[in-house]
Amino acid sequence: MEEKILKNNRAWEYDSLIRREILEISPYVPGKPVDEVRRELGITDVIKLASNENPLGPSPKGRTAVSEVLSELHIYPDGNSFYLKQALAAKLGVKVEELIIGNGSDEIIKLLAEAFFRPGDEVVISEHTFGEYAYAAHLMGAKIRRAPAGQDFGHDLEQMAAAVTERTKAVFICNPNNPTGTMITKDELEKFISSVPSQVLIVLDQAYFEYVEDPAYPDGIDYIGDGRVLVLRTFSKIYGLAGLRVGYGIGAAGLISYLNRVKEPFNVNIPAQAAARAALEDTEFLAKSKKLNQDGIAFLTAGFTELGLDYVPTQANFILFATPYHSKDVFQRMLEKGVIVRTGDIFGLPKYIRVTVGTEEQNERFLKALKEVLSELGK
Ligand SMILES: *Cc1c(COP(=O)(O)O)cnc(C)c1O
Repeated sequence: MEEKILKNNRAWEYDSLIRREILEISPYVPGKPVDEVRRELGITDVIKLASNENPLGPSPKGRTAVSEVLSELHIYPDGNSFYLKQALAAKLGVKVEELIIGNGSDEIIKLLAEAFFRPGDEVVISEHTFGEYAYAAHLMGAKIRRAPAGQDFGHDLEQMAAAVTERTKAVFICNPNNPTGTMITKDELEKFISSVPSQVLIVLDQAYFEYVEDPAYPDGIDYIGDGRVLVLRTFSKIYGLAGLRVGYGIGAAGLISYLNRVKEPFNVNIPAQAAARAALEDTEFLAKSKKLNQDGIAFLTAGFTELGLDYVPTQANFILFATPYHSKDVFQRMLEKGVIVRTGDIFGLPKYIRVTVGTEEQNERFLKALKEVLSELGK
């Protein structure tokens, strides 16, 4: 059986058929499921601080809403996410036509690429940033230009503006930036928008919008009138709905209408639409999540200082910190103690680790494990 499969999959056949563009893409390497790590290590209390999920779990209102739609699972979802768009439009003060709902905001990044990017186009991103931008660009055969990072490995908008050429189709600004947690201010953003040629699309990824405390932080919606600005937000982070896959884009009606052309008809499922709509009103949960995050940042950064480790001040729900060792070695030893973190090598920062802010208990557990790992590696 196996032999037969191998014969039918001779490599040369693919080589001659495959789109060359996708060879630029390395497949996403998923971590092991937490349950599998538990089983392999024989540890029951494995904690995952690797994907910036909400440690409090899903929004309780979202959770109730899911249980209420279970009897409708035999029907297709509303392909226009009508009620969710209405709720978002009212909350954000935008028009329904200025919204698109995606299977996570990841999908919207891909829709933008499918609608706009062609082989030969260039896409400007910062040196250390979210991987989806390069993935979507490569998928369509566009080239990535990485602008050198600024302070704390974050975005340097002057460098990014300088990387724009006549071939540039889009610039992605991740604010706060994943994996650094650094922020671009309103002034910096406005200067950038006015300095970049008007035919260049500007994507403002605000996945961690709700966590930001700094008053100099810009609200992307203020810039959609420009026509070429697309704002991205998500229900995966503070709302605690990553498993359902819902995100949204906000932009000029004309821009959104092009994204709608390439969108799958039923891209957002029924439980996801219901949960997102309910979670939007879960102000109590949001406040609680934000407070937990602020307290966690204070606790963890004090811990890094005590251990003599450099870290990047964050505006989000994760912290990037340095150790004297390769992040893969630290990762492996942390994993063996039941604590899963994200290595910085995938972001071009091999000595750095990104940790998601957890519950009080999880943060304590993380610091204790880190301390042990550092002393093990120091020997
Ligand atoms: C988590 C994250 C997203 C959200 O992805 P979803 O597809 O909505 O889950 C988008 N952008 C950045 C920078 C992120 O870190």
